[in-house]
Amino acid sequence: MIAPSTNQHIQSIYQSHKETAIKLKQTSHKDRIKKLDAIVNYIKDNKNEERLMEAMKIDLGRHTVEVLLSEIGVIISVAKYIKRNLKSWMKDERVTTSLSLFGASSYIHKEPKGSALIIAPWNYPLQLAIVPLCYAIAAGNTAVIKPSEYSSATSTYIAKMIADIFDPKEITVVQGAVEETQMLLDLPWNHTYFTGSPMVGKIIMKAAAKHLSSVTLELGGKSPCIIDDSTNISSVAKKLTWGKYLNNGQTCIAPDYVLVPKNKKSELVTELKKQVRAQLDPKGTGSQTNEDYGHIISEKHHARCVSLLKDAMEKGATISIGGEHDVSIRYFAPTVIDNVTDDMKVMQEEIFGPILPVVGYSSKEEAINIIATKPKPLALYIHSKNQKSIDYFLQNTTAGGTVINDFMIHYANPHLPFGGVNNSGIGKSHGYYGFQEFTNERAVMRQRFGATGLLHPPFTPRTEKLARIMGKWLS
Ligand code: NAD
Repeated sequence: MIAPSTNQHIQSIYQSHKETAIKLKQTSHKDRIKKLDAIVNYIKDNKNEERLMEAMKIDLGRHTVEVLLSEIGVIISVAKYIKRNLKSWMKDERVTTSLSLFGASSYIHKEPKGSALIIAPWNYPLQLAIVPLCYAIAAGNTAVIKPSEYSSATSTYIAKMIADIFDPKEITVVQGAVEETQMLLDLPWNHTYFTGSPMVGKIIMKAAAKHLSSVTLELGGKSPCIIDDSTNISSVAKKLTWGKYLNNGQTCIAPDYVLVPKNKKSELVTELKKQVRAQLDPKGTGSQTNEDYGHIISEKHHARCVSLLKDAMEKGATISIGGEHDVSIRYFAPTVIDNVTDDMKVMQEEIFGPILPVVGYSSKEEAINIIATKPKPLALYIHSKNQKSIDYFLQNTTAGGTVINDFMIHYANPHLPFGGVNNSGIGKSHGYYGFQEFTNERAVMRQRFGATGLLHPPFTPRTEKLARIMGKWLS
């Protein structure tokens, strides 16, 4: 465990990053790609992979396959995509110049924002720190990473990895909790990239406002899943079981609650039972003995899940599947609850755990009204075979992203912007959008033989005539 940083240490990191940032502005795409290669080579190294697997086991009980796909694989594919595109992303981008400015030419020059601060959560603790880092590097920034204190084994891995690869004057890790984050937030970073809860997101934005530092806020919230009456229930139950219980429901874009036509609710619960058994308890000995099913990050977060369930039960909810939990092993069974009402915490707070409320609706209007009472979600899932129905749900709701007839796969497409809207986030990431978040798109205009000088004072009747002609051009 690395000792927490002092204010003086953090100040000195800030100062050295500020100095390095000026030099990084000149770096070529090749220089930046070398740094991405160093990250990829490090995580691919067998010994390092072994250490990472151990850390992930300690923090979240993650299975190797899950770590390979949702941590290592994500970083490798992001780095690969950046490498393929970086040269063209960095190029000056010619844009049209309006007719009224005839004689001038215009382009967008991509320059790094400067020194970046990346604050990461614990649920996908490696990739949610390293993917933003890849974009920060691609755009030519320095970066300080503040990983989560809850995933401390992985945070220690990240700190060693960064120290092994990079000059601390350029990229470094500050470990710690709220106090250390507050110290970091007191400094005027050129960009703060935060992934975490909407509640802490507000603290980050307030701190950034003091310095007018730009922010990317990748937040969470309640992501609904709407199933309509044209859907094949057994197929949706299979996907839903995967989407909801992956990483014990501790995924920002996991379906939070399900809206299903009232007459299909019992069929959905029956199919979910079959799928929970098939996917998470194949031996029939209980999912707590299943190596594929991880655990809750901490006792505190476990207690939060227990209290969500207790609150729901006290207010009349019933357990259809699961409900068992054991804090000594941070186990919480894949759980489905029925008879939920709006006054229950499970319908008000982001669940971020393996509890799935199933809500029956009698009309499409009722379904969208339930969603509309809550802040705008990060993801919204629509399951339907009916195009009219899909259009209706798309047009009458809003969300950071939507997947039709599956879950979470939009995260894997770098051609799509990823992020939330208002309470679920500000700014977008992935692919070019990730590069853009760390880039200052500098507007450059070059005057060659333009006639703007004709409009300078002293103003004469001729200048007025010209201004009127220009006014017509502009309208
Ligand atoms: P969190 O907001 O509690 O913590 C995130 C980071 O903020 C951590 O590094 C933590 O140390 C720091 N932090 C916590 N309290 C702070 C404070 N008072 N002042 C300053 N810094 C503080 O989030 P979490 O529990 O780590 O992660 C879960 C949340 O993150 C969920 O809401 C989830 O939906 C969201 N999330 C979003 C995405 C996304 O891409 N949009 C991805 C993963 C998680």
